[in-house]
Amino acid sequence: MIKGHRSIVIFYLLVGYIFIAFLWWMLLLYNMSNESFSEKRDLLQLNFSYKNASGMSFEKSDDLKLLDEERKAKTYMIFGEGSFFLIVLLVMTWMMHSSLRREASVAQQQKNFLLSISHELRSPIAASKVALQTMEKYRELPDEKRVRLIHNSLHDMERLHGLVENLLLAAKIEDHNFSIGHESCDLSEIVLQVIQKLKETSELKFDLTMTIEPGLMVIGDRSGLVSVITNLVENALKYSGKQAKIDVTLCAENGSAVLRIADNGLGIPDAEKKKIFRKFYRVGNEETRKTKGTGLGLYIVQRILAMHRGQVSVQDNNPKGTIFKVTLPIIN
Ligand code: ADP
Repeated sequence: MIKGHRSIVIFYLLVGYIFIAFLWWMLLLYNMSNESFSEKRDLLQLNFSYKNASGMSFEKSDDLKLLDEERKAKTYMIFGEGSFFLIVLLVMTWMMHSSLRREASVAQQQKNFLLSISHELRSPIAASKVALQTMEKYRELPDEKRVRLIHNSLHDMERLHGLVENLLLAAKIEDHNFSIGHESCDLSEIVLQVIQKLKETSELKFDLTMTIEPGLMVIGDRSGLVSVITNLVENALKYSGKQAKIDVTLCAENGSAVLRIADNGLGIPDAEKKKIFRKFYRVGNEETRKTKGTGLGLYIVQRILAMHRGQVSVQDNNPKGTIFKVTLPIIN
């Protein structure tokens, strides 16, 4: 059994024990109170018959009424306070349960993250090392082969660079003192630049259609916005397989710049649509697992956009795939 699961089982066994013990004590107190009432009643009755000369019935006597009220008050106290403590116990158990589950899920996500990051780092480093060793060993390599090796290594370095940028950005976002730049940025130009770079560096073939309204200006952090768009467009490519069709549109709608990135890829199940923005979260199906990634991209996208008073949302594309929609306030 996994360590996290074992502590959850022990926790529930203890809680179960506390509940049973609590109920048992409540019943015990109730029984003791009833017994004490019977004893007091017998004593009272004895006293009553000894003193009573008027022939009045004991059942109607004031002393018995008083004793009965005392018994009722005690019963209310036992069950009233007992129920209150039970409710407090239930609420605390629920809180502990949620926090244990959160902890277990964070631990699992961190484990997944470590596994994926090691893989992400190892493969480009290994490939570049082999390329450099080949060039060192065979000085007289044909030009064509040498150019290919250099091109592949540069591509690997580009990927490593992107990965490290994302890691740094995620670490910075966690810091409460982190604030973004406030310059005026031409969003239309940034989108065009990111796509141009992706066309030059991506080893995947893809069909791209673009409709970009020129000159949409926003206030914000240029490198943060580059990171948002790069993450979204790279995801559209990464999760679309070999025949990727990507459609990027940017236009002004009701005083906001609206960027839509649509793909014809795997799509995202409805149950996962909210979770994908969590840190380290990756959709757990096999097809997604085959692709490289750390689960940090969309977390960064959402956090950076929130710092720009912008938003990101996700919906299904027709007939298949996903559309990510980004909204940012524009300046006149
Ligand atoms: P990463 O891509 O490194 O796994 P992200 O935070 O960028 O991390 O994305 C989180 C998850 O959301 C991905 O693992 C993937 O399952 C899903 N996802 C993101 N973009 C898309 C997309 N365009 N199509 C299908 N699934 C996507």
